[in-house]
Amino acid sequence: MPENKIWSDEELLSSGLLHRSLKVAPHMVKNATGSYIHLQDGRSILDACGGAAVISVGHGNTEVVDAMTEQLREVAYIHTSDFTTSASERLANVLLQNYRDKISKVYFVNSGSEANEAAIKMAIQYFYEQGKKNKTQFISRKQSYHGNCLGGMSLSGHIARRQPFEGIIGSNFHQVSPAYEYRYKNSYESTESYVEELAKELEDKIVELGPDNVACFFAETIVGATTGCVTAPAGYFKKIKAVCEKYDVLLVLDEIMCGSGRTGSFFAWEDEGIVPDITTAGKALSGGYCPLSAVYLNHKVVDTLASGSAAFNCGHTYQGFALSSAAGLAVREIIDRDNLLQNVRVMGTHLEKSLKQALLSSNIVGDIRGRGLFWGIEFVADKATKKPFIPSARVGYEIQKRIFARNLAVYPGFGTFDGLSGDHILIAPTFNVTEAQIDVIVQTTAEVILLFEKQFH
Ligand code: PLP
Repeated sequence: MPENKIWSDEELLSSGLLHRSLKVAPHMVKNATGSYIHLQDGRSILDACGGAAVISVGHGNTEVVDAMTEQLREVAYIHTSDFTTSASERLANVLLQNYRDKISKVYFVNSGSEANEAAIKMAIQYFYEQGKKNKTQFISRKQSYHGNCLGGMSLSGHIARRQPFEGIIGSNFHQVSPAYEYRYKNSYESTESYVEELAKELEDKIVELGPDNVACFFAETIVGATTGCVTAPAGYFKKIKAVCEKYDVLLVLDEIMCGSGRTGSFFAWEDEGIVPDITTAGKALSGGYCPLSAVYLNHKVVDTLASGSAAFNCGHTYQGFALSSAAGLAVREIIDRDNLLQNVRVMGTHLEKSLKQALLSSNIVGDIRGRGLFWGIEFVADKATKKPFIPSARVGYEIQKRIFARNLAVYPGFGTFDGLSGDHILIAPTFNVTEAQIDVIVQTTAEVILLFEKQFH
């Protein structure tokens, strides 16, 4: 083939030269509107996951596109050391309204991974500026995911994603047990005593490492990609926060996936009755229109930095990118104007009830859990013992593929490859999803799962 040939989409699709695929060719998208992705082969896919819980006000929203276009006409790029834009300041203002007593500042970057790298550095800087230069150890949880860059990956307990890189993962990163009631709470145990145990494990780990060495405890408020929408047991975060405070350890909550309204509150921690020191958020924040993530810092952290070096020791060329801010602002204005958090709560309740009802008789659905429009279905080979399927069977992926064949997109998960947790699929539709769309999502998902278990179980 000549190097300078202009290829048709069909030729590109069959060429094996697609830009990031080594094995399976992805589907070529023509366009996307509302809850649907329209493919070039004529099919329309009902998007029940928004990729990995990204889409919040639907695809193809012209109000967001117009706001972004207008921003581009005004100014495309400025460097945040000398300049700011109305879009970034207005976005910060709207995000912090109602939370000003809890959050002092918000720092905008692009990906969730960048946000967590920034959180790691800001936690270290917070102690460094107080002269506590040894506080550089981090504690996170097994079966977690905090990003693809080295800091986030070092925090992550996602075995498959970190395995090839174990050799370069720093020794400052330590992990404790996940808060995963379905899998790890013994049946004779109360939730209260399970939570006590987890808090004690964290406390023991801090004491073992030495409180003067530990900077922060990092956790997803609701665990996303690794185990599929696992909510913490009641009272867990209150106990954890108390342990952190006792030892001068910062609590960082990663809400890249579960935050920005996905659970029906802007911060998932609002339902836990605590406020973390640092929160990271992304994905739904700009709803897929432009890369945007945020690091929210409480007053304690900001005041310490302000009275120390008076600078964030962190910087990216595209941080505070005006176009991303304009997208985030337009998304948030739509969420507020159309009362979409209320829709998240109402449709979330409908989704939960319908899924539980439709899959009641399934022999391979071990657990259905989540909050708002963020739900995970965990598959098990044996419901009584909760024994997971063997990872090589890739049950989550197989079920997702069969659901996709019926023109519905859900997000697959493979357990954690440790034989201790199961495959799952994740459902996270757009915040303005309708009841009729939820019904299609549930009916299709349930039909495929029930048929799958009849054929293969
Ligand atoms: N943290 C969590 C909880 C995530 O789910 C993700 C992505 O899925 C990340 C961090 C990394 O975000 P990104 O892929 O935008 O870098």
